[in-house]
Amino acid sequence: MTAQLIDGLALAQKTRAQVAQRAAAFEQKAGRKAGLTVILVGENPASQVYVRNKVKACEAAGLKSELIVLPAETSQAALLTKIDQLNADTSVDGILVQLPLPPQIDSHRVIEAIAADKDVDGFHVANAGALMTGAPQFRPCTPYGVMKMLESIETPIRGAHAVIVGASNIVGKPMAMLLLAAGATITLCNSKTRDLPAMTRQADILVAAVGRPKLITASMVKPGAVVIDVGINRLDDGKLAGDVDFESVKPVAGAITPVPGGVGPMTIAMLLVNTMESAERRLV
Ligand code: NAD
Repeated sequence: MTAQLIDGLALAQKTRAQVAQRAAAFEQKAGRKAGLTVILVGENPASQVYVRNKVKACEAAGLKSELIVLPAETSQAALLTKIDQLNADTSVDGILVQLPLPPQIDSHRVIEAIAADKDVDGFHVANAGALMTGAPQFRPCTPYGVMKMLESIETPIRGAHAVIVGASNIVGKPMAMLLLAAGATITLCNSKTRDLPAMTRQADILVAAVGRPKLITASMVKPGAVVIDVGINRLDDGKLAGDVDFESVKPVAGAITPVPGGVGPMTIAMLLVNTMESAERRLV
């Protein structure tokens, strides 16, 4: 048996085309484009690539996208002032501050300063709480994209055992909430988990979001499981690798996402979806 490949690029393309239709309809109704503002502080090379891709994707789908680049030495107060201005700007539907931020800035403080109804990343405590209590406003883009990928191959979720490796606020925890809401039984693992392979081998759906190249090997996967690899790791030879040892796991899994070309493109597509959702909500 060899796993079905879940093509994140193709699904992202389809999702972005749907967003483009919604964006055109919105523009006609609202007399303006839906708008996302992205703030980058400093010159982290990976962050520069991410924000550029986000801005390009917005423009390709017919959204307005503004990129604000601030120097690495920007003070927290100056960043908060900028966010206040964007909160008050009615042409801005979504605000995204690219993480990580330089050490002089408290990222929690910054995330909480973004108006919750413009927090298209879904990281604000009000949005995290809304997700947890079953009335989500914005679903964090990466786990939201994973849900769409599972849907795309009609993965049975209700009653399935989903094991998530990695418990960050931006991926693991919201992933657990979304899968729980869809009826899965959840195991959420972290760096302190004892006997990780014993956990992962129980998974009907296995999501790896750790940041450790090839942590998940074939012997850790139940035959036929759906394996979603969120990890993006740069190897010494410059190549990208996920958290899953793709070549060894592929013959065991029922379905698997590649890296690159898996979850990454869907994350950006769902950012556009969240921005559209915000714009449409603000219109009525
Ligand atoms: P993080 O560092 O914030 O969290 C990592 C989590 O993994 C923590 O909960 C930690 O306890 C856990 N962990 C660490 N070592 C472990 C181990 N040996 N066994 C079990 N759990 C362990 O990371 P993050 O921000 O959630 O990102 C995780 C990975 O996903 C990174 O590679 C990141 O680049 C990638 N990522 C990809 C996308 C995308 O769009 N594809 C988006 C966000 C993050």
